[in-house]
Amino acid sequence: MEKADIVAERKNLCIALGGNPNAGKSTIFNALTGGHQHVGNWPGVTVEKREGRFRYKDYEVKVVDLPGTYSLTAYSLDEKVARDFLVKGKPDVTVAVTDSTNLERNLYLTVVLLELGANVILDLNMTDILENKKIAVDIEKMSKILKSPVVRTSANKKIGIEQLKEAIIQNSKRKVEPYRIDYGEDIEREIEKIERELENVETDYPKRFVATRLLEGDTEIMDIVKKLGGESAIEISKEAHLKLEKKFGYDTETMMIERRYAFIEGIVKECVHRQHIPHTLRERFSTSDKIDRIVTNKFLGIPIFLVIMWLTFQLTFTIGGWLADYIDMFFGWLAEVSTIWLASIGAPQWLDSLIGNGIISGVGTVLVFLPNIMLLFFAIAILEDSGYMARAAFVMDRLMHAMGLHGKSFIPMLIGFGCNVPAIMATRTLSSRKDRLLTILVNPFMSCSARLPIYILFTSIFFTRHQGSIVFSLYLLGIIVAVVSARVFKSLFFKHEVAPLVMELPPYRMPTIKGILIHMWERSSAFLKKAGTIIVAGVIVIWFLASFPTSAEYASQQTLIGHLGQFLAPLFKPAGFGFWQAGVALFFGIIAKETVVGTMGALFGGEEKLAVVLPHFFTPLSAYAFMVMSLLYIPCIASIGAIYRETNWKWTTFAVAYSLLIGWTFAVMFYQIGSTFI
Ligand code: GDP
Ligand code: MG
Repeated sequence: MEKADIVAERKNLCIALGGNPNAGKSTIFNALTGGHQHVGNWPGVTVEKREGRFRYKDYEVKVVDLPGTYSLTAYSLDEKVARDFLVKGKPDVTVAVTDSTNLERNLYLTVVLLELGANVILDLNMTDILENKKIAVDIEKMSKILKSPVVRTSANKKIGIEQLKEAIIQNSKRKVEPYRIDYGEDIEREIEKIERELENVETDYPKRFVATRLLEGDTEIMDIVKKLGGESAIEISKEAHLKLEKKFGYDTETMMIERRYAFIEGIVKECVHRQHIPHTLRERFSTSDKIDRIVTNKFLGIPIFLVIMWLTFQLTFTIGGWLADYIDMFFGWLAEVSTIWLASIGAPQWLDSLIGNGIISGVGTVLVFLPNIMLLFFAIAILEDSGYMARAAFVMDRLMHAMGLHGKSFIPMLIGFGCNVPAIMATRTLSSRKDRLLTILVNPFMSCSARLPIYILFTSIFFTRHQGSIVFSLYLLGIIVAVVSARVFKSLFFKHEVAPLVMELPPYRMPTIKGILIHMWERSSAFLKKAGTIIVAGVIVIWFLASFPTSAEYASQQTLIGHLGQFLAPLFKPAGFGFWQAGVALFFGIIAKETVVGTMGALFGGEEKLAVVLPHFFTPLSAYAFMVMSLLYIPCIASIGAIYRETNWKWTTFAVAYSLLIGWTFAVMFYQIGSTFI
C-alpha cells in the first residue's frame, strides 16, 4: 500500500533536457512531446524556455528544454538559467542529450550535471552516425562508470525514444549522490579544506560542488555563500586558488576544467571502440593522442613504463651517489668538531657518546641519502606533472583488470613509492570498501622512500656495478608481491565483481620548474621531518640500549641491545644474516625503516665504517635477502597507525602478521635458493 502511495504521488514528473547546442535537444523534445510543446519565457530573464508534456504509462511528464550550453558556469546567462532551473526547479530527471559522435566535448556538461547531483540519464544521440562510422560504445560500462543510466537514440528517426521514456519512468525516483571527479592530490586537499569551512553553510547545492566552484572562482556561488555568512570559506578558497596557481604556474580554473576533461578522456578510452578510423578523422588526432597511442599501446605500454622507471633509478643513483659523498664528509667533520668542542667545555664522556655515537652517526647515516631521495622525487614530479604518471596508471589499469583488481587502486600504490601513509589515506578515493581494504592491505609492499637508504647502503657496498638494476628489482618485487597478495586476499575474503573505473588522462604538457621543485620539496621535507623527530628519538633509544650496562663496551654483544639481537638472531639464520646486529637493525626498523641503516651506523661506528665492516658479515646474496626482508617485513609504526585509522584492529593485526610472514619467507627463499646456485 505504501508503494501505491508513492506511485500516486509521483504520477506527475518533471524532467529537464540539457545538452550542448546542436546535440539534438529540440529534436528529442519534439519526439518526446509530439505536437504539445509551447513556448514561454522565464520570469525575469529573456532567455526562451520551452515546455511540453507527454503521457507514458500512468505518468504525466512535463518536459523542460533548457538552453543549449557547454557548461554550467555563471559566465553566460544561458548557463545560469540552466543551472538555476536544475537547482531550484529540482526536476525528477535530467536527460543529458549528447552528440555521441563528439563525446569528448559533449560529456563535459554531463559531468557537471553529475557533480551537481542531478538525477541524470545520459542520452547518446545520433547513434545512427556512429553506426555508419563503425564506432561502438559500451553503454553498460559507461553506465557503471557514471553510476547513471545510459540510453541510445537517433532522434531524427525517432529511434530509441520509447526506451528513453521507459528509462525516465524507471529512474525517476532514483537516489543519487553527487558524482566525485578526482581532481588530483593537490586540488583535492584544498577542496577538502574549503568543504570543512562550509560546514554550517547550507545552500541548495551539494557541498563539494560549492567548494569546487569557489576554488574555481565562480562569482555567483561566492555571492550565495557570502549571503549565508561563509566569508571564511571564500577567503580560504581565494588563498587556495592563488597557492595552486603559484605551484603549477597555471590558472586554477583551467586545471580543474582539465581534470574534468581528463576524466572524460578516460571514459572515452574505456568505452568507445573505433573499429576503423577514417582518414579524415585520423588527421584530427592531437599530439597528445599521438603520444598516447604509443605510450598506452596494448603491447608497448608496460615495457615503456618499465624502461622509464629503470632510467629514473639509474639517474637517481649516478648523480645521487656523487652528492652523498659530500654529505658524508660533512657529518664526519661534524662528529669530530663536536667531540673537540664537548671536550673543551668539559662535558661528560656519556654526552660525547650520545651525540657522537648516537645522534650524529645515526641521523647522519640516514641523511646521507637525502640527495638520492630528492632526485627520485624530482624525477617522479616530472613524470607526474608532465601527465605521464596518469598514463602509467592507465597502462597498469589494464594489468590490474587482468588480475581481477581495481585499476584505480594503482594510484595509491604509486603514492606508496613515496610514503605508505598518504598512500593508505589516498585509498579513500576508491568507492567500494572492499577495494579500499585490499589496497590498504597491500600498500606497505610498495617500496616507500624509507627503504631506499637500506638499498642504497647495501647496493653501494655489494652491487657497485649494478646498483640501479638491483634497486629496480626490489621495487618490482614489491609490486609483484602486492599484486599477488591482493589477488589472494580477494579470492579469500571478497569474491565480488570489479566495477570499471576511469583513469583520468590530462593532456601532456611541459612541467614548470617551480611545480616540480615544490612537489619534490613536499615529499622530501616529510623525510627530513621524520629524520628530525622519530629517527632522532629511535636513535637515542638505541644509543641507550647500546650503552648499558656501562661495564660493557659501547654497542657490544654484552649490552642490552646485544641481548635483544642475540634473542632474534636465530630467526634470521636461514636467511643468511643470523647475527645479532641484523636482528637489532630490523627490530628498530619498525619505528621507521630508515632506522635500519641508522642502527647499523650506530652499531658499527658510523656510516663511513660500514663499507669496511659489512662485507665481513654479509655476502652479496645475504645482503640481497636482507634487503628483501627490509622491503617486505612489516609496515613502519606510522603506516600501522594509518592502517588502523582506516580499518580496525583486526585488519591491522592481520596486515602486520601477514607482512612479517611474507618478509621472512621471501628472505629465506631467496637465500636458500640462491645458495644452491652460487
Ligand atoms: P539542438 O541545438 O540541441 O536543439 O539540436 P537540434 O535538435 O536542432 O538538432 C541539430 C541537428 O541535428 C538537426 O539538423 C537535427 O536534424 C540533427 N539531428 C538531431 N538528432 C539526430 C540524430 O539522432 N541523428 C542524426 N543523424 N541527426 C540528428
Ligand atoms: Mg534547439
